[in-house]
Amino acid sequence: MKRGRFAPTPSGLMHIGNARTALLSWLQIRSAGGQFILRIEDIDKPRSKPHYAEQALSDLRWLGLDWDEGPDIGGPFAPYVQSEREDSYESALSHLLEQGKLYPCFCSRAELQAIASAPHGLSSEGPAYPGLCRHFSASEREERAAAKQPSLRFAMPDHPVHYIDEAAGPQAFAAGAGGDFVVRRADGIISYQLAVVIDDAAMGITDVLRGYDLLDSTPRQLLLYEALGLTPPRFAHVPLLLGTDGNRLAKRHGAISLASIRERMLPPELIVGALAAWSGLHDRAEPIAASELIHSFNLNDVPTEPIVVDDATLKLLGLAD
Ligand code: GLU
Repeated sequence: MKRGRFAPTPSGLMHIGNARTALLSWLQIRSAGGQFILRIEDIDKPRSKPHYAEQALSDLRWLGLDWDEGPDIGGPFAPYVQSEREDSYESALSHLLEQGKLYPCFCSRAELQAIASAPHGLSSEGPAYPGLCRHFSASEREERAAAKQPSLRFAMPDHPVHYIDEAAGPQAFAAGAGGDFVVRRADGIISYQLAVVIDDAAMGITDVLRGYDLLDSTPRQLLLYEALGLTPPRFAHVPLLLGTDGNRLAKRHGAISLASIRERMLPPELIVGALAAWSGLHDRAEPIAASELIHSFNLNDVPTEPIVVDDATLKLLGLAD
């Protein structure tokens, strides 16, 4: 049985890019007769707001999506809200610490910014960390820890990571790609990378479908699965929706939050039809209900190149001024 999920971070309003990811993930699971799970990723509490989580659930329902387990309906792997699952992240951290996979990092924001301006490879989480704190002795660590609360980083092993992406094809990442990454911030907040792995494993997720912007998180997550002795899901990274200026769809491309679309009383079928057309599931952007796309869904129809959404189409849909 396939189990997939949509896992929004409630730090803002859902936009049509999020809606597209939710729709494709839902179609992938529903077309296989699987179970779809909704999880709220509010682990970064200062950035997350409960009303955005409520709005996300309402927007998804409005689009015509449903779920078998989630924060509103519960399920066998409850709670479905990350801020209520912290104990499981802490025990994973202890396990990784015992195995010597983590080390404390004392670098200040200023030091990290200096690294940022140097020509290192960039990842989705900023510049690759060059491992400055990795080789401190126990006594050096103790001395520094007395003065400053450290973050915890995962020490990348010296082997490459390969996997076959269900949408983007074979992927290869060099040993250490992206650098040693943070699993717990100095302020105690657990990182997305760790929380998402623990939750996907605990909830028995077999298929993760998400945007291409998270592709370079995948080797990190695969390494965490390996270190924790957990079975990873299959991953599918779908191309991003871009504006004609080549940037990711954003506010400047028009009012594209689902909330603002709903305020203008546009029907959900119009948006689903546009999302389906942009995702190669339809020739033309004609209105259609999400449920009508289930029987013909094929992940191979989704293009592998970034999808440019032209202003004229946005205007036609009432999504731009
Ligand atoms: N919470 C993440 C986000 O909203 C999604 C994580 C994932 O799909 O792995 O970007």
